[in-house]
Amino acid sequence: MPDIKRPSFFLLSFEELQAELLKCGFEKYRARQIFDCVYRMKIFDPQGMATIPKKLRDFLSGAFLFSETETLGRNIDGDMTGKFLHRLHDGNLVECVLLEAPAEGGEIRKTLCVSTQVGCACGCRFCASTMRGFVRNLSAGEIISQALPFAEKGGKFAFENIVVMGMGEPLMNMDNLLRALSVFNDSDKFGFGARRITVSTCGIADRLLELAKSKFPYRLAISLHGATDEIRSKIMPINGKYPLSVLLPAADAFAKSNGRMITLEYIMIDGVNDSRSQAGELAKIAKSLHAHVNLIPYNKVEGLEWRRPTAARRAAFAEILEKSKVSYTMRREKGSDINAACGQLALKTSDNIQKNP
Ligand code: SAH
Repeated sequence: MPDIKRPSFFLLSFEELQAELLKCGFEKYRARQIFDCVYRMKIFDPQGMATIPKKLRDFLSGAFLFSETETLGRNIDGDMTGKFLHRLHDGNLVECVLLEAPAEGGEIRKTLCVSTQVGCACGCRFCASTMRGFVRNLSAGEIISQALPFAEKGGKFAFENIVVMGMGEPLMNMDNLLRALSVFNDSDKFGFGARRITVSTCGIADRLLELAKSKFPYRLAISLHGATDEIRSKIMPINGKYPLSVLLPAADAFAKSNGRMITLEYIMIDGVNDSRSQAGELAKIAKSLHAHVNLIPYNKVEGLEWRRPTAARRAAFAEILEKSKVSYTMRREKGSDINAACGQLALKTSDNIQKNP
C-alpha cells in the first residue's frame, strides 16, 4: 500500500516539477520527458519510464505518489458496462464505472464515473452509497487514480467523458474535486475538454453560489427527484436545508455564470414522485432554468421498499414534459441490470451526455 505522506505527482504543475528536479540535482529538461511519459504515454509507474535514467526513476518513485488505488475487481454486465472496485490505502473501497453506450449515429461513447467520498452524509432515501453514512473525503490523488487503470496501450484513455456521479457528494469535497478535475482538464495534463466533464450534486445551494462566482467550467447535473418541497423532502433530506426556494435561484445563478445547460436528474419512483402534477411542476422548473431533464427509472436497492413505475406511467409522465416542450431524455431500460449503486448512478447520464456533447 502506498505511503500517503508523499505528495501526488499529478498535482505538480510543469514549472513545479522543473523546480523540484533542479533542487534535487536533476536537469530541468527532464520535466518534459516525465510529463510526456505520464500524460501522453500514460505510464504511471516511474520504473516503466524508459526515457529517463534509473536514478531519476528511483527519485520519482520515492518522492511522489502516482496511483493511490488498487483495482480489486471488475464486473461487466450485458451492456458492456464495467463496474470496478478500487481499494484505498486505508482499506476503504470505492466504486467506479466505465460505461459503453451507443450514441447517436451508432458511435460508441465511453464515460467514466468516479467517486469523491467513501460513503455520503446526505442520506438520500433511494441511494445505496449513503446507507452506511459518511466515512471520509477522497483526496484529489485518489479521485484521479480511479481513472488510471483505464489507460490503454498507445497512451489513450478508454473513455471520452467523465461524470462525477459515483459515491459521495462532490460539492462537499470541493477543494479536492476541483484539484482533481483540473488535472483531467489541464491541456498540459490529461486534456479533457470541460464539456466532457460533468459534476452531479444533490443541490448544495451555497456551493453552487460559490461556483457561480468562480467560473466553474464543467457541466453540472442536479439531482432533483422531486418538483415540490413536499415531495422532494420525502426523498432527499438535504431539501430541509436547501429547499427549492433556495436551490433554484442558486442553480439559476450558476447556470448564468457557467453558460452550459444544466441537467436535472429525476429518478422515477412508483407512487412517490411520478404523478402528473409533479411532472407539471418539473416542467416549470426545467423551463425556468433552461435545463435538460434526465428521467431515470428507479433501480431497486436492497433493503429499500421503493419500486420503479410501470412503463405506461413513465410514458405518461414524459408526455407532460414533451407537451411542455421541455428537453428531456428517458433513460433506456437496457443496461440497468448493473447491480451497483454507483453503476445505477452513472448509467443514467450517459444518454444525456451523448445527446448534448
Ligand atoms: N451526490 C451526487 C452524486 C451521486 S448520486 C448527487 O446527488 O448527484 C448521483 C445520481 O445517482 C443521483 O442523481 C441519482 O439519480 C442516481 N441514483 C442513486 N441511486 C439510484 C437508484 N437507486 N436508482 C436510480 N438512480 C440512482
